[in-house]
Amino acid sequence: MIEEQYDILIELQKIDIDIDKEEKKKRSLPLMIEGITKEIQGLKGSLKNKNEDYKNLQIKLKRKELDLAEKSNKINKHQEDLYGGKISDIKELKQIQKVIANYQEEKDSIEEDVLDLMEEMEDLDKSIGHLDEDLKVKEEEFKKRKEEVDLARLAIEKNMSSLNIKKEEILSKITDNRLLKEYELLRKEKGGKAIMEVDGSICPGCYLDLPSDVIYQLKKNRKIIICPNCSRILIWKD
Ligand SMILES: [Zn+2]
Repeated sequence: MIEEQYDILIELQKIDIDIDKEEKKKRSLPLMIEGITKEIQGLKGSLKNKNEDYKNLQIKLKRKELDLAEKSNKINKHQEDLYGGKISDIKELKQIQKVIANYQEEKDSIEEDVLDLMEEMEDLDKSIGHLDEDLKVKEEEFKKRKEEVDLARLAIEKNMSSLNIKKEEILSKITDNRLLKEYELLRKEKGGKAIMEVDGSICPGCYLDLPSDVIYQLKKNRKIIICPNCSRILIWKD
């Protein structure tokens, strides 16, 4: 019976539409974690940069501290000369005092640099701490969302496998392979529905007002009609 085959196609189409929906859901799953993944990457990038900046400042500070120690040593050495009593020439003593004053001036300036550096490091350290906290929060959120996505994926896969079992059952009842091919091509072309059940005066596929003789053929003669506008297969809905 050809009509029966169309009834089976209607059943098949319901299942196919449900399968399409599940596939669409599955495709949208990665979007649920895309945003947060990017945020985490961004935070990790900033952290890496700031940690490198911090290391560079540590190296700079170390150098300044070595400089300071060197100046202090020099000052000490000259002070020993100055107060050691070995030099009695006033001119020479004055010269040493001048040298000490110069070193002291350099030392003061380095100490200022050290303070600036330490302040900069402190600020950077704080900002690294904040970034670390933000990263932890985001990673926790990611974990939760990933779990949700995994659960959703499992549910979708479960639905899909039971839908596919139903589909196989329905397919086994279809004896008209040419009709099945036609249905599949039309469904692909129309992006979902190939066969429509009509129960009024319009085509539910394209909303065309169907000519009265088409309705008559559909309703009274139970004929299968191709919609003159969208080419979908039309059957009358009982
Ligand atoms: Zn139509």
